[in-house]
Amino acid sequence: MDAPGVQAGHGEHGGRNAAAAAAAGTRLDPWFAAYAERAHGMRASEVRSLFAVANRPEVVSLAGGMPNIEGLPLDFLAEMTAKLLRERGTRALQYGGGQGEEELREQIVEVMRYDHVHAHPDDVVVTTGSQQALDLVTEIFVDPGDVVVAEAPSYVGALGVFRAYQADVVHVAMDEAGLVPEELDRCLAELKRQGRRVKLLYTVPNFHNPAGVTLTMERRPQIVEICRRHHVLVLEDNPYGLLGFDADPMPSLKSIDDDGVVYLGSFSKTFAPGYRVGWALAPHAVREKLVLASESAILSPTMMGQLSIAAYLSGYDWYGQVKSYREMYRERRDAMLSALAEFLPEASWTVPDGGFYTWVKLPDGLDAQAMLPRAVTNLVAYVSGTAFYADGQGHDHVRLSFCYPTPERIREGVRRLADVVRAEAEL
Ligand code: PMP
Repeated sequence: MDAPGVQAGHGEHGGRNAAAAAAAGTRLDPWFAAYAERAHGMRASEVRSLFAVANRPEVVSLAGGMPNIEGLPLDFLAEMTAKLLRERGTRALQYGGGQGEEELREQIVEVMRYDHVHAHPDDVVVTTGSQQALDLVTEIFVDPGDVVVAEAPSYVGALGVFRAYQADVVHVAMDEAGLVPEELDRCLAELKRQGRRVKLLYTVPNFHNPAGVTLTMERRPQIVEICRRHHVLVLEDNPYGLLGFDADPMPSLKSIDDDGVVYLGSFSKTFAPGYRVGWALAPHAVREKLVLASESAILSPTMMGQLSIAAYLSGYDWYGQVKSYREMYRERRDAMLSALAEFLPEASWTVPDGGFYTWVKLPDGLDAQAMLPRAVTNLVAYVSGTAFYADGQGHDHVRLSFCYPTPERIREGVRRLADVVRAEAEL
């Protein structure tokens, strides 16, 4: 499997390599020479190419980030959908406005109160999952060669977007307490000294994907202050914020600096990803650009999805559902941590207080990417740490997700992984 790109696409295809790639590419794909420069940087993520094997029933997949939605009230949703179509069908099946339906935006404002955000519905843009919001923000801010600063490691889907817009991703270290403020400050000062244009800090402060850590309360205002001082917009991605196991959500970065932060939210993990509804909350002028960019990409977000979610939020105890998700994921997190302690004591790992993932450091000398085919042969799948860096790091880590398999399967998966690790260490 390919490592993700080393930095961004531009420059990557110059010179002799470009000629060789073009020659090979033309043989396989007659349109190779016609692709835009940005398309050359696009490739299937390691996570995507794993899906086919990892989904075989005999494989315990600790790889994917699919939420477990078996606890959803399907009978309620079936009736709700029938009612929606019967009573408001011509609206639900029609085009809508580019910014999204006002009734849903009002409800999104209520959802964000849990993150201590006090917003106005006019500043919310409904998107096709938060993934589209990542794309829109990058489209309106990033020119080829601009720098996006991101945590080390970072969400693979965001790295794919940054690569598509030919950004240079520069990673900044995290520790158990999240992104390290001193490292961020030092990095931004150095980039400035080099004359680089830094456009965004991309960060997942809560229950990080893939690192499993959460930015402490103490660090939150520090991160915001550093970005403000360097005039860098913060892109705060918060799909897991309500899925904390022990405590209520901490104030989001957006609640600390309204003007300097674009906040992204999603119903994918707290409700269901199939509706494909997320949102961006942005400063007023930025919001206008986002709406224009979204209209030219998709005209309007799904009306059926928006009105379904609005009906669910107003007609069901959605926060009760979130609480039952938390209980289920906490039990799975516990199963993962105790299996790691039992079977893989020679590794080390983060202890997530919420979300879906733990980030495991392999014993010295092991290579997560090279080991993966042997793991799959031993019927367990994970994502190699290399997927989560734009610069080739991550060989010594794996991301294990505990969201989808049952606690028993998680234990079995970790046991199988430990066998592979031990066999590998003895080679
Ligand atoms: N951001 C992060 C950190 C994610 O983990 C994901 C999904 N795995 C997304 C954004 C995108 O989610 P969606 O488009 O379903 O809202």
